[in-house]
Amino acid sequence: MKQQTPLEAIQSFCFQCCGYSKKNVHDCPSRKCPFHALRFGSNFPVQMIEDSINKIYDYCISCVGSASEIVYCSDPKCKLYHLRLEAIKHHFPKTYAVHGQGELFTLDSDSYSKSCDHL
Ligand code: SF4
Ligand code: SF4
Repeated sequence: MKQQTPLEAIQSFCFQCCGYSKKNVHDCPSRKCPFHALRFGSNFPVQMIEDSINKIYDYCISCVGSASEIVYCSDPKCKLYHLRLEAIKHHFPKTYAVHGQGELFTLDSDSYSKSCDHL
């Protein structure tokens, strides 16, 4: 099955958050939520779409408190789960790379080394 893009995942997350009600998503009062501006619609500026992965990082931080906890998130049913490592990589672009679906690596000058414990 094709994996959702960050924007698709955010909008699925919002739909679930609001009890699968489009009206409730539209009326969401949580303006401080990282997803608020992206919760519905598709006609966003390119910059906002590109930034959506950073919003996932922000949301995950608010969920579990630290990047290392995001790595070890134990909720694969979460709509954001498959993007959480990519979100960390985007937040620390000179430090980390993602290999496949489930591993986060330190990006150093000579080699990749597994480093989840260093976050
Ligand atoms: S913007 Fe935040 S609070 Fe509002 S529906 Fe989305 S996830 Fe829920
Ligand atoms: S992927 Fe994990 S850390 Fe991120 S919001 Fe979902 S449950 Fe929380």
